[in-house]
Amino acid sequence: MLDGFGRKIDYLRISVTDRCNFRCQYCMSENMTFMPKSELLTLEEITLIAERFIGHGVKKIRLTGGEPLVRRDMSDVIQRLGRKVKSGELEELTLTTNGSLLSEYADHLAIHNVHRINVSMDTLDPEKFAEITRGAKVEQVLAGISAARQVGIRVKINMVALRDFNQDDLLPMAEYCVKHGHDLTVIETMPLGDVGADRKLEHIPAEKFIAPLTDRYSVNPITHQSAGPARYLAVEPLGLRLGLITPLSNNFCDNCNRLRLTTDGKIFMCLGHNAHVDLRAAVRNEGIEAVDRLLQKALKLKPLRHDFNAQLDGSADILERHMNVTGG
Ligand code: SAM
Ligand code: SF4
Repeated sequence: MLDGFGRKIDYLRISVTDRCNFRCQYCMSENMTFMPKSELLTLEEITLIAERFIGHGVKKIRLTGGEPLVRRDMSDVIQRLGRKVKSGELEELTLTTNGSLLSEYADHLAIHNVHRINVSMDTLDPEKFAEITRGAKVEQVLAGISAARQVGIRVKINMVALRDFNQDDLLPMAEYCVKHGHDLTVIETMPLGDVGADRKLEHIPAEKFIAPLTDRYSVNPITHQSAGPARYLAVEPLGLRLGLITPLSNNFCDNCNRLRLTTDGKIFMCLGHNAHVDLRAAVRNEGIEAVDRLLQKALKLKPLRHDFNAQLDGSADILERHMNVTGG
């Protein structure tokens, strides 16, 4: 699949639920309302649509949300898409999770060909973790990560850079990652949805956020590539591979290879734009073949780049859609 700018699109991210057992302050408002269950794609529909996309050349799928593991019967989706990895039709099936239910799911993930996951953790400090997630326990996440490692799943920690909140936590996080063999990625906050906070005050450029590492260690670019938009640095002699996702300070849209399927069956071609096509009604009325037609339409809609900077400086409206709906 090629979009209107000639970019090859082969990476699908699926938000399987907008619900979550955490309420991270930068992601959701405290009193977040969720979609009525009747609006959600069924798990059968998600799997059928994903399989159709694989037929069109999607090579990597990431399940996300909301928290993907809070949706009941996720085991079936993982099992069916995992089979596509085994058959070679899919190069990779991965997951982005808050880690709280990993102890329960680790075995199932490993058996069904999920070899790598991203776990979000913004601090190791139990009190600060409870504060940023509005009540979650970091110990539960750490136990989940250990369970995943024990069954051989590789882990990358996602840490959102939050100005005046977690820069001091970067060094302990980096040391924890090295000790346990995880990669670490720092993500700049994106202005998605009203969370009751001034997005501008949350934002800190990733390059500035990593000062505790650059002050202490030698930090140099490396050529490592992943399916996502991160660029990578080697932190030596610590021995850490550090990814930076910098949508605001260093745009990466030129190489964007992804499309996103939302919980309610819309295809968004960009996290930072509202242009989308609605698959749910079409698939329910016309059958799964409707995907073929709408996918062609969606490819033409993919914008050249996001507008996060304009949204942050106030010259464009902040998108109403929260991160959990489109899938982070
Ligand atoms: N619940 C899972 C988790 O937390 O990993 C998956 C969904 S979450 C929306 C995916 C990623 O998006 C997480 O790493 C989270 O920290 C990040 N995220 C959420 N809201 C964000 C925002 N406004 N800006 C940047 N990253 C955000
Ligand atoms: Fe839930 Fe993930 Fe959003 Fe946190 S970032 S509230 S864990 S969906």
